[in-house]
Amino acid sequence: MATIKNVAQYIHELLDVDAFKDYAPNGLQVQGKEKLKKIVMGVSATQAFIEAAIEKEADAILVHHGWFWDKEDPRIIGMKHKRLKLLMEHDINLLAYHLPLDAHPELGNNAQLAKVLDIHMEDVMDGQGVGNYGRLEEYMSLEELGQSIEKKLGRKPMLINAGDHAIRRVAWCTGGAQGYIDKAAKAGVDAYISGEISEHTTHTARENGVHYIAAGHHATERYGVQALGEHVAAKFGLLYEFVDIDNPA
Ligand SMILES: [Zn+2]
Repeated sequence: MATIKNVAQYIHELLDVDAFKDYAPNGLQVQGKEKLKKIVMGVSATQAFIEAAIEKEADAILVHHGWFWDKEDPRIIGMKHKRLKLLMEHDINLLAYHLPLDAHPELGNNAQLAKVLDIHMEDVMDGQGVGNYGRLEEYMSLEELGQSIEKKLGRKPMLINAGDHAIRRVAWCTGGAQGYIDKAAKAGVDAYISGEISEHTTHTARENGVHYIAAGHHATERYGVQALGEHVAAKFGLLYEFVDIDNPA
C-alpha cells in the first residue's frame, strides 16, 4: 500500500541511507498525510516549488535539497516558517535525499548525468560512492564537450582550459563538488565536470593540466530525483510529476 511509511522505508533501503554520513537528515523530513496518490519531484524544496506542488495536488514532494542542514539556524522563522507553514497547511510530506541520491549506481545524480552526457561509468571517486570516473565514447576537444553539454543540459557551461589535450578520460560529480578536482587531478583524468566553480578551481585546473567544466549545480542535479521518483511511482502505483524551478546557478 502506498503509505508514506512504506514509501519512505522502501527508499531508505533502496538508497542504503544508513551507509552515508551527510549534512542533513535523509528521508522523511516533514510528515504529512498518510496515504499517497501523487508525488511531485524537484531539485530543491523552495517556496516556489511547494506552491507548484500544491497546484499539482502532491501528497508528497521528493527532492534532492531538503531542509535542516548542519549548522543552519534551527529556528522556524522567516523564510523557513513560510515554507514549512505552506507545506503543513496542505498536509504534504517532504522526502529529501542528498548524498545517497548522488551516489546510487543507477538512479543517482552522477549515474543519471552520465547517461544524459553519454559517459561510460567506470569507477567511484570516494568511499561513499559519490563522484565517478569514466570515459567518453571518443576523444573530444574541450569546446566540443562544452557544446555537447550545453545542448543536453540546456545551459551554457563555464569552461576552464588547462592545455591543448583532447578529452577521453573524465571524472564528474554533480552539484557543488568543485573541491573534488584535486582527487580528479591525482587520478590523471583529462577533464573534471561538476556544477559550480570557486576562484581557486581555475588555478587547480590550469596548474594540474585538467580541464574543468562547471555545468551548473541545478542543471547537473535534475536527473537523480526524476529517476528515483519514476522508480518509486512504478513500484507503488503512484502518479508522479517533475517540476523544474529554473535556477541559473
Ligand atoms: Zn546539490
